[in-house]
Amino acid sequence: MTIAILGGGQLARMLVLAGTPLGLRFRCLDPAPDAVAGHVCEHLCAPFDDPDALAKLARGAEVVTFEFENVPAATTERLLQHGPVRPHPRALATGQDRLFEKQLFQHLGMGVPEYRTAHTLAELQAAVAAVGAPCIVKTRRLGYDGRGQARLKPGPELAAAIAAAHRELTRGNDGGLIVERFVPFQRELSVLAVRSLRGEIAVYPLVENVHEGGILRRSRAPAPDVSTATSKQAHDFVAAVLQDLDYVGVLAIELFDLGGTLLANEMAPRVHNSGHWTIEGSVCSQFENHVRAVAGLPLGSTAMAHGQATMVNCISTLPARDAALALPGVHVHAYGKQPRENRKVGHATVVGADRAAVDALAAKVSALPPARGEW
Ligand code: AMP
Repeated sequence: MTIAILGGGQLARMLVLAGTPLGLRFRCLDPAPDAVAGHVCEHLCAPFDDPDALAKLARGAEVVTFEFENVPAATTERLLQHGPVRPHPRALATGQDRLFEKQLFQHLGMGVPEYRTAHTLAELQAAVAAVGAPCIVKTRRLGYDGRGQARLKPGPELAAAIAAAHRELTRGNDGGLIVERFVPFQRELSVLAVRSLRGEIAVYPLVENVHEGGILRRSRAPAPDVSTATSKQAHDFVAAVLQDLDYVGVLAIELFDLGGTLLANEMAPRVHNSGHWTIEGSVCSQFENHVRAVAGLPLGSTAMAHGQATMVNCISTLPARDAALALPGVHVHAYGKQPRENRKVGHATVVGADRAAVDALAAKVSALPPARGEW
């Protein structure tokens, strides 16, 4: 059975690496000649809106899936002419737009940060006045890793900052903005779950995430000090979203923890960086479970394999190779990407029974010197 993947970055690469032992074959489409999934599967190098390339991608494939959600509607419509697309493009359309996400979360009874939408400068001024500063202005579509956002502080500079944010954030897009009240969260959590073609749902333990500059730096699973009630709330919420969207595959939802009260931030209709620890840390990883789900196979267990796991992202550069590999028990994943400022080029996961020991080893990984030259 062949599975086609739209996108050929590290998420596609890890899907291929997880699904290949199941006897599955993969083909990806990505316009970048050096797309790193191309190291491990057939790579069609063409634009995402090239009708011939889309037909080639889907030819003979059981199903088409995605490694990112910002897929043009015309592309998914074309793909649907060739066969099943999982998760269904309706879920992608929701995940592409911060307003649609929030409306879905609210419809399902989940709290979200107070927000207003805006297009024009006057609307943005009114939205900021209604929500109150400090607040965050975000583009409704196409933002990621902190891009497409501006933080506004109260004070005499506010009016100028609103004008600057409007100029910056409406350049080169449809101009749809959302203003969110700044939430004084205690920490960030995420919940990842998978739904099969037959409707079975399996949820991974809650994950605690640390972001810097809008980019994920570290994830710990299971998130420490989570009450049974909080864990149940997150579990029931992600299950409700999966069911509402008739979703097939892995879905991640980012949450703000205000000390026992959860607010939903955003969802990713795909495998997610805060689930990379599942490769070594759970019985069946998010990547294998996504592949199993979209291929119509039974799901694997989402239980922890060793008790605790910590994942450290490698941003901009990898750590020095020999030093990293000399740390026993550290699982290093180098994505084969060229180092570049703020680029995710790899990650490392530490697993074990003891939380303090796992964290101590993960701290050693973070303190490694950067690699020089090629890995
Ligand atoms: P996002 O792209 O929405 O995930 O935002 C990137 C990061 O900005 C999040 O992981 C948070 O650390 C921070 N952030 C986003 N929205 C808010 C908010 N309403 N209040 C406080 N921090 C936020």
